[in-house]
Amino acid sequence: MAKSVKSAERKKKGGKSAQTGKPSRAEAEAAVRTLIRWTGDDPDREGLLATPARVVRAYEEWFSGYGEDPRDYLSRTFDEVGGYDEIVLLRNVRFESHCEHHMAPILGRVHIGYLPRHRVVGISELARLVNVYAKRMQTQEKMTAEIAGCLDAVLKPFGVAVVVEAAHQCMTTRGVHKTDVTMVTSRMLGAFRDQVQTRQEFLSAIGMRGATPVGDAG
Ligand SMILES: [Zn+2]
Repeated sequence: MAKSVKSAERKKKGGKSAQTGKPSRAEAEAAVRTLIRWTGDDPDREGLLATPARVVRAYEEWFSGYGEDPRDYLSRTFDEVGGYDEIVLLRNVRFESHCEHHMAPILGRVHIGYLPRHRVVGISELARLVNVYAKRMQTQEKMTAEIAGCLDAVLKPFGVAVVVEAAHQCMTTRGVHKTDVTMVTSRMLGAFRDQVQTRQEFLSAIGMRGATPVGDAG
């Protein structure tokens, strides 16, 4: 009884997503039962009996990004750029995330461009990088900045450009019910921020030249 030594929780690889006091699966399922009762339904009726377990498993997928370090995916870089000094561009990387305000889905796509200095990275690694950040509770602005910042820090290219275009279901299915609105956010670093021509080349390649930073509400 007197002995209650709290063991320091050591995260391997220095991961920063501290999950101190993570509840048990049973506690998480009980919380879902509470939410079902909050809607006015009965968690003990037959159709809902397995729902808490399913929801908790779905959460494991939707929020799998907390257990991963995005830098791991970029460590598999190819050092040889072979004199290539043009923009590397990945368009239309689809993602599914959840807004941190309502935990409602954010569905959209990411466009990534960078100007390699020494290193390039595989296409699938870039797509996985997007996934690590998407599979967390997010704001679109934060996710855009995180993707750009991580690429910039690890690859140290001449510049990074990230544009994210997404629909937020907390806006389309509730609240203001603006079903056609998409939000566009961008983060330009290095050459993409400093050189108009480089930025325009990127925006034109993703079909957004002259685009305003806010989606057309049509
Ligand atoms: Zn929201």
